[in-house]
Amino acid sequence: MTAAVSTTDPTRLRAHEMARALRAGQLSARELTEAHLGLIERQDRAMNAWSFVDREGAVEAATQADERFDGARRAGPEGLDALPPLLGVPVALKDLVLQRGRPATAGSRILQGFVSPYDAHITERLAAAGAVVLGRTNMDEFAMGSSTEFSAWGPTGNPWDLGRVPGGSSGGSAAAVAAFHAPLGIGTDTGGSIRQPAALTGTVGLKPTYGRVSRYGIVAFASSLDQIGPFGRDVRDAAMLLSVLAGRDERDSTSADIPVPDYAAELPQSDEEGAASLHGVRLGLPRQYFVAGMEPDVEARVREAVDVLGQCGAEIVEVDLPHTDYGLATYYIIAPAEASANLARYDGIRYGSAARDGDVLGDYLATRGGGFGTEVKRRIMLGTYALSAGYYDAYYLKAQKVRTLIKRDFDRAFESVDALVAPTSPTVAFPFGARLSDPVSMYLSDACTLPVNMAGLPGLSVPCGLSNGLPVGLQFIGAAWDERRLFRLGRAYEAITASADWRALEPADLPALDDPSTPSPAERSSAGRAALDSAAAAV
Ligand code: GLN
Repeated sequence: MTAAVSTTDPTRLRAHEMARALRAGQLSARELTEAHLGLIERQDRAMNAWSFVDREGAVEAATQADERFDGARRAGPEGLDALPPLLGVPVALKDLVLQRGRPATAGSRILQGFVSPYDAHITERLAAAGAVVLGRTNMDEFAMGSSTEFSAWGPTGNPWDLGRVPGGSSGGSAAAVAAFHAPLGIGTDTGGSIRQPAALTGTVGLKPTYGRVSRYGIVAFASSLDQIGPFGRDVRDAAMLLSVLAGRDERDSTSADIPVPDYAAELPQSDEEGAASLHGVRLGLPRQYFVAGMEPDVEARVREAVDVLGQCGAEIVEVDLPHTDYGLATYYIIAPAEASANLARYDGIRYGSAARDGDVLGDYLATRGGGFGTEVKRRIMLGTYALSAGYYDAYYLKAQKVRTLIKRDFDRAFESVDALVAPTSPTVAFPFGARLSDPVSMYLSDACTLPVNMAGLPGLSVPCGLSNGLPVGLQFIGAAWDERRLFRLGRAYEAITASADWRALEPADLPALDDPSTPSPAERSSAGRAALDSAAAAV
């Protein structure tokens, strides 16, 4: 790596390699930040992964990082050791993480013009770790969706095929990390929004155990399901970022006071060690996760990956999670119910944009009618209905009971296995518009990820090859607080497939991002937009 830094593009490095090169003085934080900003400014018209690029803030943070490196170097080796782990390393923030003095729209017109008055807990953590925030990334409105097509700011293109979605709702962060616009990204995952876009863009994404990361200062979708987590281009980077984000924060009473390990430092260093760590590990393969509608080639890649894990020493046992089938139906009662309560605060008085229409009720109706998009309105109606008098017991209460059954399935499985291995998404990235006119087809994108949120467990998605040139994701699911094991498994899988041909491939449409004649995702997806508009007319 030492030689590579001076000869290659620094944006191609992994975050941990950047951190090392910065410390060694082979690269300045300013140079690294400029390299990323340059790419974003040149290429994002064709990808639309960013909703706000913070050139000024990023350059200032990078300059301060360089000053700290200089000071520490003068103080000698101990000085460098005392520096925080991400000093000078760029990161992309999903547009629902509050950062003081910066916009946060959560992909919604209703938050247009809103400027955050304070920092989210994780924004404070990132600043303390020395990270350079490059800006904010595109997302489905209020994190509702699986394609990023529900953003009020237009869809994001997948760098593997710009005519396809990057997944969602954290599609902007996933696409930015895949296209080398940032080495690290932040996402949130309520039903799959970190793992599914990670799978569709060939990146690594982790949804932590519920309570691992404070939700203070994150725009809420469904509070009993939301978790914040990392994206990276390898497992070590995702692990390094989680150590920065995780830990107790008294401003979120659901954040747990459980010690946070240095996840990255604990990982095996060499591929040999990584592979050896599979010996004696019992992995459960849940029968129910090979769902109807799964693409045969995606299933083939996942089964090949499981076979390789088996050949390298893991013991694979089939397990049953019998209530899996109810995951989707119960999620789409609980998540909209919580969303309808959380979104009541957008009333045209307290946040963002406001419409005026005669009296207070008129203002309220005009603000919400014009500010929310189709999918958000659909969720508010579903949620309000499920919570209304007479229906609460029939829907919400029943869904909560089934949620307990789903959790018990996992508890039972973890009595006999160390972790589960499964597909992340039943399909590869789909073309713009393909699922817009049929909400249930969009909801099915998360069939393999939703149950994990219902049970509050951690899940890691790692790339496991390509299907027709598009990335496929492999999911490891752990018992609560067992992120450490998931990272080890992900790292072991990287180690045993280190020389696979597909690992050497970069996203196929990166050259198109540099071509000024490439249409923007909004232009490409106009057919999809038309479908969305006709769906809107029907609501
Ligand atoms: N796609 C799911 C939904 O629309 C999950 C989204 C998420 O995890 N934020 O609710």
